[in-house]
Amino acid sequence: MAGGMVAGLLERADGEWMARKTLEMVEIKSVTMDEAEMCRYYADALRALGLAVDVREVTPGRNNLYARIPGTGGGPTLALNGHVDTVPIHGAWPPRREGDLIYGRGTTDMKGPMAAVLGAAKALIESGVKLKGDLVISAVVGHEEAVARKDGPRAYIEDLNAGRTKADRILIVEGEEDIWLMSMGSANFVITLTSDKGGTHTNNTPFGENPIRFMGELIGAVNRRQREMDAGDRHPLAGPERIDLGVASAGDLYNRTPTHCTLIGTRRWMPGKTVADITAELDALARPFAEAGRLGFDLKIEQEREPFETPVDDVAVKAVIAAAERVTGATPKVVGRRIVGDANLYVHGTGIPTFYYGASNHTAHADVEWVSVERIRRSAQVYLAAAAAYCGVAE
Ligand SMILES: [Zn+2]
Repeated sequence: MAGGMVAGLLERADGEWMARKTLEMVEIKSVTMDEAEMCRYYADALRALGLAVDVREVTPGRNNLYARIPGTGGGPTLALNGHVDTVPIHGAWPPRREGDLIYGRGTTDMKGPMAAVLGAAKALIESGVKLKGDLVISAVVGHEEAVARKDGPRAYIEDLNAGRTKADRILIVEGEEDIWLMSMGSANFVITLTSDKGGTHTNNTPFGENPIRFMGELIGAVNRRQREMDAGDRHPLAGPERIDLGVASAGDLYNRTPTHCTLIGTRRWMPGKTVADITAELDALARPFAEAGRLGFDLKIEQEREPFETPVDDVAVKAVIAAAERVTGATPKVVGRRIVGDANLYVHGTGIPTFYYGASNHTAHADVEWVSVERIRRSAQVYLAAAAAYCGVAE
């Protein structure tokens, strides 16, 4: 019967084997755009498990990797997804193990989790247990650094849409033993006010006509808009929407009227609205100040990501929650975040429900990065139990 088979499957998750794989991967530096050696390592590790690997070139030497453990048929496909690149290395070298913890750049973000995926695949293959649906492993490059422009995740979306690789659900193996199933949309905005009175002595331009005055009024309006949002609808998991400013710049000398005023910030919004709505809202917020000052006006929207939300009662989400309860003995927290991740891209680019569950990530990008071997092993067990429940076990 399936229950006993799943218990046998979970027992096969070998934490020490996954710890060795994690250390080997962390020994290979794989900063974004320089992932070639790590791609070779991961492809070889999948082949060593007996899997055929589809090597999808993103740029020369930088490859997404897709491998499939075929089911017997009649079940849905679960894709376990993660990235093989890391943030640029500083400190955290050489990698080392101390007891349950492995230290080094990329241990938690996300070579430990990618080792958990290998460990889950190894346990499933060696157990002889057959799932009905396919279990797919997808490893992407180009996640971390803006220079890659998300080329790996975008290539994955192309390949899903073209049928080169399949998924009915995508589980990104990132997280803190919690179910992360919603992120707000996010966009950077650049608002520029320009004045034809600029570049002359301030004595020649009344302050009432100085573009800095209108930039100040616009900043006041941004503050009022945030207070309205704080008092308005709140997402139950992620709280109120946000408008934040990071750069305010104008002028070049204490007694010259500026030609330009620039405000740069971030707008984060709830599911149900799109970047088009947000662009229109920012335009309506800012343009009246330009018009009042007879100033030139420009609004640019950059790095936009639409929001995503996968329902908590989705069949795959429920499978992972039940699997985490079984493995850890506790009900995982369901979380939503204001920050975006690759799920925003996947859901918007493919329509495939996506969410996250991972061993840990709170030391990601930190000076001292580490991962727990026990948590890697547990997460591999969660992936196995979830795949058994979601894909089905063939009798
Ligand atoms: Zn990261």
